[in-house]
Amino acid sequence: MARRETPAAGPGSRALVVDVIRSATTISRVELAGLTGLTQPSISNIVRDLIADDVIHETGSAGSVRGKPRKLLAITPANRFGIGFQLGGESLTCVAADLTGGVVGREVVPLGRADLAQRFEDFTTGLDLPAGRIEGLAIVGPDHEADRLERDDLAARLGVPVLVENDAAAAALGEFWTRRVSREQSFGSVYLSTGIGAGLVFGGSLFRGASFDAGELGHLSIAYDGRPCPCGNQGCVERYASMAAVVEAARADSLVPPGGTTFAAYDAIARAAVGGDAAAFALLDQAAGHLSVAVTSMVNLLDLGRLVLTGPGVAVAGSIYARRLREHLARTAHARHRHDIVVELSAQPRDAAAIGAAALVVQASIAPGHSSFQ
Ligand SMILES: [Zn+2]
Repeated sequence: MARRETPAAGPGSRALVVDVIRSATTISRVELAGLTGLTQPSISNIVRDLIADDVIHETGSAGSVRGKPRKLLAITPANRFGIGFQLGGESLTCVAADLTGGVVGREVVPLGRADLAQRFEDFTTGLDLPAGRIEGLAIVGPDHEADRLERDDLAARLGVPVLVENDAAAAALGEFWTRRVSREQSFGSVYLSTGIGAGLVFGGSLFRGASFDAGELGHLSIAYDGRPCPCGNQGCVERYASMAAVVEAARADSLVPPGGTTFAAYDAIARAAVGGDAAAFALLDQAAGHLSVAVTSMVNLLDLGRLVLTGPGVAVAGSIYARRLREHLARTAHARHRHDIVVELSAQPRDAAAIGAAALVVQASIAPGHSSFQ
């Protein structure tokens, strides 16, 4: 095992302590010191401040081998809230989450010409969330290059920080936060939608790359002379395994009628596949096979230990993708003899990006240093 230096208590220590309590559910001060490497006095000071700020609280106690029982610490969930807005093709999904990422409110409205500031007011007052307890708003969508001026204007109007992130990255952070994944894990998520994205969380932080463009799994090529992609490359997995690619193939085979939205057509194929339709199953299984090749490359490149499949593309027939991916990784992942590569399915795949957006706000609020309001 690698030697670990004892870190000095610094600006990142509070975030570290919060993150370890989050993933542990309940933990004693002694265990916190052991897991963070911080000294007992540092832990005592940070814990005292976090209790005073209502971020954590003492909850019961655990037995001790000698002397008095140790008090356990846990995150105080329903004290502050993050709001997440997910921009879909035609709808806006609004989610409010508490400090553990638990959903306390959800609404889906037509996107139309929605005024986001008005929507925020309507949503939060409808839930009766106290204004002083709302830590911010994060807006996520397939395109993360939202207008910075618009965001600053919105933050000024709402009086809370506003964060913008792409949907796949937000979904990864949401799964990381709500599943209580330990920061020691190399964690990733695959976000299957009209395109394909990935989110990566290392050391408790979203990995964003040089220009917030990390995780473009959809443009990982699986065939050097494969189908041309608008990005300029050939054989991008998105051209074979995205919802759009599946619907395109189904229409070519006359499995679904022309017209209608990609989402509606894809869901019809997915329902048929899980309902025993052999042709629909074959189509999704083939897409899952293509996706598995790309995901294995990502797992190998980054030595990931745990993956979650999420996004609207796995809402109905996610088990087809998960099964295929587990089989492929078990046969081909480079690190398979050293550690397991766990593949899980999201519990709320359609809302994962909205929940992740709310979790981004929560993380930025109580464990700052991992992500910031730029
Ligand atoms: Zn491409």
